[in-house]
Order: sequence, then structure tokens, then C-alpha cells
Amino acid sequence: MDGNGDDPRSDTYDGALGEAAALAHRWLSGMRDAPIPPSATIEQVKDVLGRTLPDRGPAAPLVLSRLAEAVEPGLIRMHSPRFYGWVIGGAQPAALGADWLVSSWDQNSALRNVTPGVVAAEEVAGEWLLDLLGLPESAEVGFVTGATMATFVGVVTGRDAVLRAAGWDVRANGLTGGPRVRFLAGEERHGSVDDAGRFAGLGTPSLVAADEQGRMRTDALRAALTAGDGPTVVCLQAGNVHSGSFDDLAGAIDVAHEAGAWVHVDGAFGLWAAAAPGLRHLTAGLAGADSWGTDAHKTLNVPYDSGVAIVAEAMALHSSFSQQAAYLPSSTEGSDPSDRVPELSRRARGVPVWAALARLGREGVAELVQGLADAAAALAAGLRTVPGVSILNEVVYTQVCVSFGDDETTRQVGAKLDAAGVVFASPSRWQERAVLRFSVSNWLTDATEVERTVEAVRAAVGAVR
Ligand SMILES: *Cc1c(COP(=O)(O)O)cnc(C)c1O
Repeated sequence: MDGNGDDPRSDTYDGALGEAAALAHRWLSGMRDAPIPPSATIEQVKDVLGRTLPDRGPAAPLVLSRLAEAVEPGLIRMHSPRFYGWVIGGAQPAALGADWLVSSWDQNSALRNVTPGVVAAEEVAGEWLLDLLGLPESAEVGFVTGATMATFVGVVTGRDAVLRAAGWDVRANGLTGGPRVRFLAGEERHGSVDDAGRFAGLGTPSLVAADEQGRMRTDALRAALTAGDGPTVVCLQAGNVHSGSFDDLAGAIDVAHEAGAWVHVDGAFGLWAAAAPGLRHLTAGLAGADSWGTDAHKTLNVPYDSGVAIVAEAMALHSSFSQQAAYLPSSTEGSDPSDRVPELSRRARGVPVWAALARLGREGVAELVQGLADAAAALAAGLRTVPGVSILNEVVYTQVCVSFGDDETTRQVGAKLDAAGVVFASPSRWQERAVLRFSVSNWLTDATEVERTVEAVRAAVGAVR
């Protein structure tokens, strides 16, 4: 073994990365068939990790093998093709490999002139994304941690823009003393929209009524807009976490723009529908918004830490997020990555997005997204053959929302399913009922996995009856 406990400088990358690759290989080999739930609690994991900081540690490879030994029993197999919890993607090999390279290259990706290699890959990935999602070529793309931060970027940029139009400069003056900004979102918005509003100093959104699929009602938006005035930011949704439904983007964007509002679209997983010809109709009108947020770590199946913030008007984004300092060699041609996101120092998290897109190509992305929607439709059809099941939503995209009868039975089926360890779906409440949500978001979920899923659900239902 190379390296010894006495001198950290005797550790080698070959030793550490060789061990890491072997451990990763072992973990990934259980992806399809090992039980999904963790077998250890957080306290048990801490006991094995050891709670006392040592005076000196062992060599790097031994640190890594001890880490994996302690942590693995506490890992949930979110990469399983039968993991349907929340909205969770797996990790395509090309993207995972690129993620390792990003860590190895260890570039602080704030400035084009300093780290041209990774900034080039991110800028190309950004251009490809705009093309695939049908968004304006002139829009700017920032790589953030996830859709929560993407919504934050859109809402802050929108807030500043509508206040600027009202004659108030937030950058110079802050919010205090300025006009109040109205912040509107649908009744069934994602909770992260509320976070974005709070972080942006706009408070909790005023809620606009939704229809039976959870889509914001455009007539209710019109009424809400007419009932007040002043600078306004509206947040729409492409992809409801329970039903998969999409707001009437074309109609709502028109209504909001007539009222002079900024429109952000939260499309954490739904924006990808625009990349599949068979699903694109769900996003009609999308390109007319002012900002968009999505995740690559969901539908695109890139490892975590991969959100995308997009703003149509580059100058608006820069005026909210640019950062200058005498010691930073800012670009003179085009904006720097740090002008497009809240962070200065960050990893080159857009590079795995480039790798995923380069691997799949235009047709591969379309097939990935369509494949998830097809698997969701097949899952809904299969589940309908299980006694007592009702599918509560119109399955238009990747989400299937299921009831097994009364709330107690639904909860019990969920618990049985979880305990059997073959399928994971997340319990929730939708339209005043207990439900199990199945979000089909993994690149490996195919007809065979759907069949295994339906059989596991049938067995869980049988065990509860
Ligand atoms: C997951 C999700 C978010 C939050 O995204 P993070 O990447 O977890 O920050 C926001 N909106 C919707 C619709 C989501 O599904």
C-alpha cells in the first residue's frame, strides 16, 4: 500500500483513485438487484465512521475503504431503475465519468480567461441546451446547484428588472423604500418557489387557483393580475410533481406580459418535454417567458449538483449577479460564468451536462425523455390491472399518482412496498388523499423494469389485503 499514516504528502493519486474506482465499481454493480432501502441508521453509520477526530489518520486508500464500509449500508439505491421517489434521476456513465474528471481538474470556474477549457465546455453545453429546449439563442445559461437555485436566479433577476422598469435600482438601494413587488405562483407550485420568494425578499407568493390536474388557471391569473398593480413577478410551472401536468404556458405568459410582469418557468423536470417531438406540445409557448429553471440531475440523469438557470435578457441577468474586483481578470468579450450565477468559486458543474448531451445527441435526448414518459404510461396501464388501484392523474408525462383505496390502505401498501425493497415510490398527499407517487426519471427504467414494478406492487397489495 502506498502512503503511510505519518505523512499525508506520501499519498498518491494512483493509490486513492484506484481504491475509489474499485469501491465505486462495487457500489454500482448492485444498481439493478440489490435492495433499495438503506440497512443502517444515521447513528449506526456514525458509530462505524468513528466520532472522535484522530490525532493522525491512515493512508488515503484506507480512509476511502473505511468510508465506504461505514457509509454504504446507509445509502439508498436512488440509481435503481425501480426507484420512483420524489423526482430523482440516475447517473449516465458518460456524465459520471465527466464528473470525476471535473473533480480531478479542480478548476475554479468563475472566469473565462482563467479556465478556458471548462468554460468552453459549459458554454457549448449551454448553447446545446437552448437549442434542445427551443429557447432563444440569445439567452444566457448559468450552471447552479439545482432547480431551487435556478428559480432563485430567475426570481431575483425578474425582481430587479421589474423594479428597474418602475424606476427603482435594487443593486444600489436594496429593497427597502422601493415599490412593493407582487409575487404570484400557482396553488400547486413546488415548495422551492416559496423559498426563492423568501430569499429574494418578496415573501411567500400570492397563490393563483389551479385546476383538477394542478395547472394554474389562466383566468384566475388574469383576475389576480387585474386585482392589483405595480411591479410583478409570476412563476409558472412546467411539470407538476404529482400529476406531471404543465401550466397553460402560452396563455399565462401572454396574460402576465400584458400586465407588464416578469415570467419565470419552474421546469425542474418538465422543461425536458420540449426536447422530445412527441411531448413538445406540453410546453407550447415556453420560449416566450423571461427566465427558466431546470435540473440536469433529474431527467437528463447527470450526477447531483446540476441545475440550470436561463434568462432571456443577458443584461438583466448580469446586472443582478455580476461581481467585479480589481484582482479578478474579467472577460472583455462575453460575460463570465460568475456573471450568471450567485457563486464566484465553484466546480465546473456544467461539464457533466456537456458529456451527457455529447453522448446522447439530439435524438438520444429525445428518446430518453420520451422513454420516461412511455414507461410512465406503461406503469399506469400495468397498475390499473392491480385490484383496488386508481390512477388519480392524467398521465401526460413522467408522473403517476396512485391511490389504493382509503388513505390507510394506501399508506400500508407504500410501507409493504418499501419493506420488500424492490421498488421505491414516495408517499404524499394530493387532492386531499393519501397517494403513492411514482416519478419515472431513471434512464434505465424500461418495459422489463416496469413489469417487475407492477408485480412488486401487486404483491404488496396482496400482503395488505
Ligand atoms: C425537484 C424540483 C425542484 C427543486 O429542485 P432541486 O434541484 O431539488 O433544487 C423545483 N421544482 C420542481 C417542479 C421540482 O421537481
